[in-house]
Amino acid sequence: MRYNPRMVKTKARTADTRPLPEGAVEKLRPALRGHVLQPGDDTYDTIRQVWNAMIDRRPALIVRCAGVSDVMRAVAFAREHDMLASVRGGGHNVAGNAVCDGGMMIDLSLMRGVQVDPSAHTARAQGGVTWGDLDTECQAHGLATTGGVVSTTGIGGLTLGGGIGWLMRSHGLTCDNLLAVDMVTADGGSVRANAQHNRELFWGVRGGGGNFGVVTTFEYRVHHVGPVYAGSLVYPAGKAEQAMQLYRDFIPSAPDELDCELILTSDQRRRPVVRLMLCYLGPKERGAKLIKPLRAFGPPVSDDVRTISYGTLQHMLDDLPGVRRSHYYKSNFMEKMTDAAIDVMLGRMAEPGVTTPLINFECFAGAVTKVREDETVFSHRKPSFNFTVESSWDGARGSDADIAWVRGTWEAMKPFLASGVYVNYMTDDKDEGQERVKAAFGAAKYERLVALKTQYDPTNFFRLNQNIKPRTQGA
Ligand SMILES: Cc1cc2nc3c(=O)[nH]c(=O)nc-3n(C[C@H](O)[C@H](O)[C@H](O)COP(=O)(O)OP(=O)(O)OC[C@H]3O[C@@H](n4cnc5c(N)ncnc54)[C@H](O)[C@@H]3O)c2cc1C
Repeated sequence: MRYNPRMVKTKARTADTRPLPEGAVEKLRPALRGHVLQPGDDTYDTIRQVWNAMIDRRPALIVRCAGVSDVMRAVAFAREHDMLASVRGGGHNVAGNAVCDGGMMIDLSLMRGVQVDPSAHTARAQGGVTWGDLDTECQAHGLATTGGVVSTTGIGGLTLGGGIGWLMRSHGLTCDNLLAVDMVTADGGSVRANAQHNRELFWGVRGGGGNFGVVTTFEYRVHHVGPVYAGSLVYPAGKAEQAMQLYRDFIPSAPDELDCELILTSDQRRRPVVRLMLCYLGPKERGAKLIKPLRAFGPPVSDDVRTISYGTLQHMLDDLPGVRRSHYYKSNFMEKMTDAAIDVMLGRMAEPGVTTPLINFECFAGAVTKVREDETVFSHRKPSFNFTVESSWDGARGSDADIAWVRGTWEAMKPFLASGVYVNYMTDDKDEGQERVKAAFGAAKYERLVALKTQYDPTNFFRLNQNIKPRTQGA
């Protein structure tokens, strides 16, 4: 049974909602170190907001957890009162899974502690930490682990889904650097999982998303990461096709110290434009020599590749237009970028009516592809590209034209795409469907995940995610 937010403070009822019992929230408040927000409270509307402006949901309760005991109490309360629950880390999930209508948002954004052990090369971070928090603390010791490229993204959702970032070709995905988690499970208890204890659960959290509980602490392996040679090269509008071919032919076989994303957009005349964003983990002299072919081509109309600190790089994309805009994505892996696929993409960029057409490629190579397929839930270990098509627009309403363009482009690209998809780039389950969730995990792994889900969350309490259905719910 779902709660209607308005019922908590007494108002209208509908057939499928029921109010919280009188005084229930008042009993919860003093038991918490953090606090509770309800509709009408001062910061309620700020805290319920997530990154994608298309998502406008109103939980009945927001529990702003200050620590593990608050998370345990929040889970116990939601279960006792049969409330739908969502978990908020950094709030960046494009599907808006961090927030629900009428239920409880378990908000971790006050839990931002980080402890780095420079001699052990490890970092422990609470469940609400952002990449900006973790990078800042790690960089104080010249350290870092693979992480999101925007500082406000939460470590929570990103790590649990896999974790793509500039360091991945050298050091693997974020989940490959995960050493342990402390987690509050659906029964309200707390459990630790690592390579020695609760090993199956530890496998499950490395790619299985937020299906098994609320992670209150992540522990990572961290690496020496000094200044990097990084920035972007933008090519002239008439050279998009050759620039994409250059990326396809040059980047996968480049040394693993070089990571590079391709962004295909269009200019005001709807001509396709290619931008390469790159990061070389090493000194300028070697980096400049390595990227010489990328500079020789074009020549680029803009080139800001230079030596910067890794911390600076990790803030470089923060100001791109995106926050509080509406966003819609579609994504899949692509094993080969053929000339025919490039033709289709360039053709789609010329379509009128779309606000900000964008296609993005991340290159999977190096350390990411050296991890054994069965070692983590994250499955996509073949050398490949991660293809994402998206658009964003101002305002909180869906834009039919943008959504249609994204879907149309994805449909046109399907003959060139693999079935696999990165869970963290998926939209909500109504849009994607359960078959896409299975494709994200792979059929065999999905079965193993169902067993784990049935063990840790048999009632599917944690279901606002790319959901693995327990056996009890007809998986
Ligand atoms: C601007 C932007 C940049 C991005 N960059 C990257 C990138 O560089 N690399 C990459 O791999 N992905 C990237 N992503 C995608 C990102 O991985 C997902 O959006 C991810 O869900 C974000 O995590 P979050 O904690 O901010 O999400 P939230 O929206 O807070 O949470 C999403 C879901 O994750 C789960 N969750 C979050 N925290 C916890 C926790 N502590 N315990 C249990 N479950 C939890 C819950 O199921 C929740 O519903 C980016 C997204 C955006 C919007």
